Amino acid sequence: MDTLRFLTPENLEQIKMEFQTPTFVYDEAILRANAQAVKQFPNAFGLNARYAMKAAPTSAIIRIFHDEGLGIDASSGFEVERAVRAGMGTESISLSTQEFPEQFKYWVQDGVKVNLCSIHQIHKIGQWGRGESVGLRFNPGVGSGGTNRTNVGGPSSSFGIWKNDLEEAKALCQDYGLKVERIHTHIGSGSDPEVWKRAASLSLNLVRSFPTVQSLNLGGGYKVARMSGEKATDLMEIGEPVKQLFKDFANETGRELTLEIEPGTFLLANACSLVTTVQDVTSTGDEGYRFLKLDAGMTEILRPSLYGAQHPIVIVPEEGQNKFREEAQQVVVGHCCESGDLLTPAPGDPEALSTRMLPRGEIGDFCVIEGAGAYCSSMSAKNYNSFPEAAEVLRKEDGTLGLIRKRQTFEQIIENEVAP
Ligand SMILES: *Cc1c(COP(=O)(O)O)cnc(C)c1O
Repeated sequence: MDTLRFLTPENLEQIKMEFQTPTFVYDEAILRANAQAVKQFPNAFGLNARYAMKAAPTSAIIRIFHDEGLGIDASSGFEVERAVRAGMGTESISLSTQEFPEQFKYWVQDGVKVNLCSIHQIHKIGQWGRGESVGLRFNPGVGSGGTNRTNVGGPSSSFGIWKNDLEEAKALCQDYGLKVERIHTHIGSGSDPEVWKRAASLSLNLVRSFPTVQSLNLGGGYKVARMSGEKATDLMEIGEPVKQLFKDFANETGRELTLEIEPGTFLLANACSLVTTVQDVTSTGDEGYRFLKLDAGMTEILRPSLYGAQHPIVIVPEEGQNKFREEAQQVVVGHCCESGDLLTPAPGDPEALSTRMLPRGEIGDFCVIEGAGAYCSSMSAKNYNSFPEAAEVLRKEDGTLGLIRKRQTFEQIIENEVAP
């Protein structure tokens, strides 16, 4: 049976009283410890570590990682703006985006590092400024995502310049006088050292084609264990062979490359719990299921509906309620009128309903979804069914709880609507 990861039952009561549910609670101590672990990543000639802020972009989280010495990996011009507003220096921000923002000129002039992710992006920056220093993101032809939807390398992925377009990219950079300083690859969530080794050596081969490159960015994608029994990435295990490859490369070419990494999931996934309340219980009888309906759902956590992702679920009876509950197979659903709003899909199959063995939930119980730090609050079906965006709270290192994002108000949901 799953248990609370870092919150106490007293924390839950306090959250309900002060902030109501649903509320995301991030743990500062875990965030800081994860940042320290990332900074220990094995490297031969220096490490530049960044936080992929799309995992959870709230400014309080960015500031904690800034304080720990991490830079920022931004996925859009808007994320660059958000990071800057949170106090990040532009030179510590790297932008790798599917949609190149028109304001890139200002960002580049201010020192933001761009990794060009397509031939079109090379044209865009080349036509604007000759002699700029740039990075190139390649799709090296392999991927290692947990599901088709989290795989971001290989022929079925649109991210980066396809490996066979290397010569074209190189010629264009030469024509435009662009100085290629960084090579970037990011192939998806994996924990297999062999896949990392393969990705690193394919990426080093790309570096060979660009004599001006000084650093190789291997992206993020370090798989974490949310559920008990899942295998987490051992950073030392995947990092040591990569370090060796950098050394071999230096022996062979005389080029000592800096390693760049930019995890999101690793830093956030297990540093946050989503606190919800069971607001209804229904059943479809003997031939059906017992359903627990939360006051949250795909409006806070979409990963189960999208990927069939599994998150630990913990039922905690309210204070003063009978704490002893028999266990039963139950289905946990969200509050949206949408059959896909499901917290207990079959693993890896969002279309299939599954059950979870849990203490029999009752109306008013807390239901805590663990492992809710990465791609939950940031990737929700926000405002579907007109539910307001949930609040976010930080459990500080001294154990006190502080609001870092207010719950959205009803007025904010409709504020941009106008009469025609
Ligand atoms: C999303 C992303 C990351 C982080 O991926 P995780 O799987 O969360 O570690 C890193 N780099 C780039 C370019 C990304 O788009």
